[in-house]
Formats: sequence, C-alpha cells, structure tokens
Amino acid sequence: MLSDLLLVTNQGLVQVGELTKRKVIDYKLNKRYPRENIVKVKLPPRVISDCYVDIAKLERKKFGELLTYFTRVLESNFFNLDLDYFYNNIKTLDIKELRGKILNNHVLGEYLIDTNEILLYTDCKNTIYHELFHMASSCFRGNTAFSGFSQDDVGIGLDEGYTEFLTRRYFGKSRTFITNYEDQVKLVSFIEKVVGKNKMESLYLKANLKGLLKELRVYLTQDEVVDLVSNIDKLRYLYGVEIKDFSLNLYLDYLRESYLIIFKAFVRKLVREYQQTWLSNVIIDKKVNDFLEGGNIRSYVDGKTYRITGLDDFVNIFQEEFSKIGVYFNESEVRK
Ligand SMILES: [Zn+2]
Repeated sequence: MLSDLLLVTNQGLVQVGELTKRKVIDYKLNKRYPRENIVKVKLPPRVISDCYVDIAKLERKKFGELLTYFTRVLESNFFNLDLDYFYNNIKTLDIKELRGKILNNHVLGEYLIDTNEILLYTDCKNTIYHELFHMASSCFRGNTAFSGFSQDDVGIGLDEGYTEFLTRRYFGKSRTFITNYEDQVKLVSFIEKVVGKNKMESLYLKANLKGLLKELRVYLTQDEVVDLVSNIDKLRYLYGVEIKDFSLNLYLDYLRESYLIIFKAFVRKLVREYQQTWLSNVIIDKKVNDFLEGGNIRSYVDGKTYRITGLDDFVNIFQEEFSKIGVYFNESEVRK
C-alpha cells in the first residue's frame, strides 16, 4: 500500500499517503538526516487466520456440500496468501434461505459484510457461489467495508462484474441466472486482459481496489481511471433503477466510453512492449486479435442487440497511440 511507504524529506520522514496533505518542498533522499529521528510506521495488521478449514465441520453446515466444493476449488486455484479473508469469514458464515420473498428480478442473493451472512432468494447454485466469492473477498478496515473491487459505494460495478466473471470461470454459467450482469462481466474481462489474470484475481481476493487502480494508472491518466470506475458504477446503477427511468442512450454511452478507455490502456501497454522488445508485426497482430476476440462488441438490452464498439474504434486508438512514438502502421496492416 502506498501509505506504508516512506520518503525521506528535508523535514524528516513522512508517509507517502500524507504527501498531498503536507506541503513538502523537497523530497529527495537526504542522507545526512540523523538516524534517531526516523519515525516507525506501523504496517496494517494482517488478518488473523489459521488458513485452515475443518472440512468435516463444514460438511455438516447448511449447504455443506456446496461450501466444501467451493473451498476445494479456491484452494486448488489460488495462492494460500490470497485466501486470508476467505478463511477468516468461512468459519462464522451464516446462510439464510428466504425463498419466495424475492424482491425483484435483480436480487437473487445478498452477502452482508457486517454480519457475515448470505441471504438467498433462490436455490440456484450459481447464486450461492457468486455470494461466496463476495464472502471470500470481504473485510472491514476501520469503519470502511472492503469487498473485492468495491470500497463502500465506490467500485460496485467493477466488483459485481468481476465476482460474476470469477463465478462463471470456476463454476460455469447457470441457465437460471436472470440478473443482467453481461456488460459488466464483459468489461471486466477486458480489464483483466490489461492487468493480467493472476494479478487481478489476487487483488480481488485481497479486496484491493487501490491496487487495481494503481495497475491501471500505469497506462491511464488519473481522470481516465476515475471515469472508467465511475462509468461502470453508473451502468450498474442505471440497470437497477425502475424501467421507466432507464435511459438507454445514457447506458450505451457509458458502456462505449468504458470500452474506449480500456482499449487505450491495452494499446498503451502494447506501445510500451513495442518500445522495450521491438515486437514484430505478426506478434502485434496476434495480441490485437486475442484482445478483441473477433471485433465487434455488442450489448443486449431488453431483447435488442446494440453494437457498442469494435475494430474501427480500436484502429483509430491504435494509430493515434503509436504515432506518438513516431511509428505508423498502414490501416490494412492493423485490420488483418
Ligand atoms: Zn453480487
């Protein structure tokens, strides 16, 4: 975490996280600064957990079979160090069935961080696994709830998208799943292609939104990162409102803008690689094709299909970003 880092300044040691609050004129390394003035900064305590689940005990719980399977899948696919919150929460997790009390089509289950409870409005297995992923990536630090890629109300769209994306990756897509997550799931799958699978999964399980933003900041400006996160939040919000208030144009605009920002991040990453390792045209071609998965990106809203973006927008961004380093590709080369 940034705030755990120290910088030596003319005024002594300060935390990087406080740099914006304090006026620091010069933060170059000052070797002459006397040692006894070094301030020790406490690192945040690691969640106390013994990284172990009593499977026999878990099996006897309600939905024991599913809980055990979820545990096995997590333990065989993720590093133990990334499962702190999972081990911490699973032991005291409570699952309540509220079937028949379904509120609307958008809520099939809920995970409540403060009480470590899952409320189920359906017996769909996919919903249970989805909520279990929320449980495995949630904690409180101070008064703030951290859950996957959300921090209180910020990043909810990102978090829901990635939670569902991981549920499908490890447990498959359920036919009875009715909530509309499709656009958010697809968007986060593109973000993962920029950040990398292992890194993104690890950041999610450690509820490290700040870490994800830091990864994106390597390729995007602060404004672009903020726009991306808030756009995905707005998509989620718009889908949750009453249908009469739903603005399709606004929704499609936010969606398109989000993709364009992710395209930029991907192309800027490619430019860096090109500068560092001189990628051949064949390799660039392969990387672009793998990223775009065939071109057009569509959204399905209320039974209708809308084209959001595709190769034409990608090519424009590609040409623009590469031209900044004086490299020009023929359009036909990029479109191969
Ligand atoms: Zn959810």
